[in-house]
Amino acid sequence: MPSKLSVGELIEASEPRFGAVRELDETEGLDQLVLLALARELPFKKARAALRRLKQDFVDWNDVRVTPAHELARGFEGGPPGSAYRKAEELVDLLSTLYLRFNKMTCDVGRTETATPESTKLRSRLMAFLAERSSLYACLMPLFGAKDDDVVASPELTRPLVRLGFVEARASDASARETLLKRTKPGERIAAQFVLHQIASRVCGAKLTLCGECPVASKCPSAKIPVPPPPAKPAAKSSGKPTSKSEKTTSKDKKTTPQKK
Ligand code: SF4
Repeated sequence: MPSKLSVGELIEASEPRFGAVRELDETEGLDQLVLLALARELPFKKARAALRRLKQDFVDWNDVRVTPAHELARGFEGGPPGSAYRKAEELVDLLSTLYLRFNKMTCDVGRTETATPESTKLRSRLMAFLAERSSLYACLMPLFGAKDDDVVASPELTRPLVRLGFVEARASDASARETLLKRTKPGERIAAQFVLHQIASRVCGAKLTLCGECPVASKCPSAKIPVPPPPAKPAAKSSGKPTSKSEKTTSKDKKTTPQKK
């Protein structure tokens, strides 16, 4: 069934719940990666403000990495309940793993103009690490530093596009990418991919869908919203005649109860 949504409506409906990044325009690769992490569940403006605050309040990302999550969480308010602490923990874990596995905190991940054999090797290791973490990072970080907005083919992008009716059920990842390129204007593609990856990872899983929690369920042709159970029927009014065993017993008991004189 064709989609009832435009890509613009998809972004608008999803951002309050899942957040969004609208452009990949940070100067440093690691700043961009942190912005993507912050923007999960935070609207773009709040995520960017949180990034600026971190850069202002801490010496560097290593300083952020060793800060307790509950302290960082204070700057991440504005998302769903409980998301600020979860986000702080995720950020500390992401930075710590980057630090330990790559032994540096300034991975400039998308710059082809500075490519050397060493940087190419580092970049492919980093991309493999990001793919382990999230399809969102793996698909958007290669676009950091690119001249034009592009779409990166991925099963996690194809799945929600199929379910939302943007592409046919058996569409390949490559044809889903082509469709999204045609259906989006430059400037819309980064945000569209961001929210589609968020939908895929949070509610529209390969095996489990949580359509009742999906912000675009009302316009999704594949939505399966659980039907609430019917309200309990009110108890039938008594007709005055005994209708149950207990009532019969009560009337019999009355007859046998000795009367006071
Ligand atoms: S409503 Fe359900 S099937 Fe449709 S995109 Fe959301 S989670 Fe996926």
